[in-house]
Amino acid sequence: MNMEKKDRGDRKCSICDKPFIPNKYRPNQEVCSSLECQYQRQLSNMKNWRTANPNYFKYRESQDKSWKQACRERSLEWRRKHKEYLQLYRGANKERHRKYMREYMRKYRQRKKESEDRNEGEAQSQAANNETT
Ligand SMILES: [Zn+2]
Repeated sequence: MNMEKKDRGDRKCSICDKPFIPNKYRPNQEVCSSLECQYQRQLSNMKNWRTANPNYFKYRESQDKSWKQACRERSLEWRRKHKEYLQLYRGANKERHRKYMREYMRKYRQRKKESEDRNEGEAQSQAANNETT
């Protein structure tokens, strides 16, 4: 009838060796809940972790670098594979862009006629720049 029996009083702290009752949320608890033992447990956890992962930060860095490299290569590969597609896409955009610029310049000149604006040269050189890209 007593279901708690096996979990009660039969656990010994792995640090102070005193019997303790494990937390019901952590049935595998190995260390008693005294401050001293919890502190010792944390220290040894850190130590164990560090000795198990001596190059953790270096490792992360190298992982990140190779990850970036992989990303770059992937995008280069994608471009290589889709070169024709990109050229078509750019061609279509160029045409659309040309139309847009033509319309833009037409409106601009209209506005210029209405008010004497001295920035036409600038807008035209900008348009030329856009045309080449
Ligand atoms: Zn203890």
